Amino acid sequence: TNATPQRAIVRLPEDVVNRIAAGEIIHRPANALKEMIENSLDAGAKMIRIQLRDGGLKMLQVQDDGNGVAYNDLPLLCQRFATSKLRTFSDLQNMTTFGFRGEALASISYVSANMNVVSRTKDSEIAYKASYANGTLVPVKPGQSSDPKPCAGSQGTFITAEDLFFNVPQRKRALKSASDEYAMALDVVSKYAVHYGGRGVGFSCKKAASAMVDLSVPSSSSTTTLDAIGVVYGSKVSKELIELQQFNNSAYGTQLRGYISSPNWNARRSVFLLFINNRLVDSPALRRAVLALYANILPKGYHPWVYLDLHIEESNVDVNVHPTKREVHFLHEEDIIEEICTKMQDALTMANNTRTFAMTQ
Ligand code: ADP
Ligand code: MG
Repeated sequence: TNATPQRAIVRLPEDVVNRIAAGEIIHRPANALKEMIENSLDAGAKMIRIQLRDGGLKMLQVQDDGNGVAYNDLPLLCQRFATSKLRTFSDLQNMTTFGFRGEALASISYVSANMNVVSRTKDSEIAYKASYANGTLVPVKPGQSSDPKPCAGSQGTFITAEDLFFNVPQRKRALKSASDEYAMALDVVSKYAVHYGGRGVGFSCKKAASAMVDLSVPSSSSTTTLDAIGVVYGSKVSKELIELQQFNNSAYGTQLRGYISSPNWNARRSVFLLFINNRLVDSPALRRAVLALYANILPKGYHPWVYLDLHIEESNVDVNVHPTKREVHFLHEEDIIEEICTKMQDALTMANNTRTFAMTQ
């Protein structure tokens, strides 16, 4: 037989364990970027600037104007399970931040050749620069100590990760081309720029080698969600959207807002933005239900554009089912999905009636 000869059980070395775990959280540059954007938002950033080289594989850079990281916290920044957000297990019940496990930056440092951080808090006169690899501080320049070094910098945090997956060849092989990886990263930025662009947070995203900015939403309190959609996805689609008014009769205390395309909108690809409690997530069941609803009203081959901003009581949502926190499940899932679809159907019917009415006048 092909059975391997019996060998003794050994405990894997810690760096191997950590690298395996990191690969489960960070599959590709877009995952790393999502974690970094969420950290910036957790830090109260109002402007988030992103640059990628080779789809983020060569370089992934996020600059924010948030709270910054204090000098004393820098040694722990990339250590696994080190977080400023969660203190006790029971805190998990009511987390309002995106992060809580302290695994994202650690993971990125385990799968990148080098990670540089420059950060300045509001109370500090100067910024500090630190470099990381495999969860710990390493010298910024060879021969120096690994202590963070004072430097010039504005308030906020500037993180650069280089050569992603250089030490995980299997992962690297599974990746798509640099331009496909860039498209996936831009997709994440686009979705956050819609959801937060209407809440005063600005975003920009570009390729490091290019002078052209691919996405730019200003940091302004006068930007509406619809403005942000227009800037990111184009005014063609934003003109064809129907606003979903907030639920006021949900049996489950759920709140829903959003914009969904009218039956006149036809695109070759569906676009589905789902935010649950301000977190970009996927709910395959909800996605399927929404697409099925449109399949009934759109001609074959036409696809909708849907943005749902859903709020569910925090204690009823489990964001932990998936290591990347991407897929979520919530209590009363079937009923809530049905409620959402009814609401969407009503909005579509109403828009259609208004339209017919307007045309016959
Ligand atoms: P988590 O977000 O789960 O706490 P991370 O590994 O993403 O874990 O980040 C670890 C810690 O580093 C955070 O708890 C936070 O204190 C700090 N941090 C990370 N990114 C930023 C940022 N952009 N601005 C300020 N602090 C940050
Ligand atoms: Mg985080």
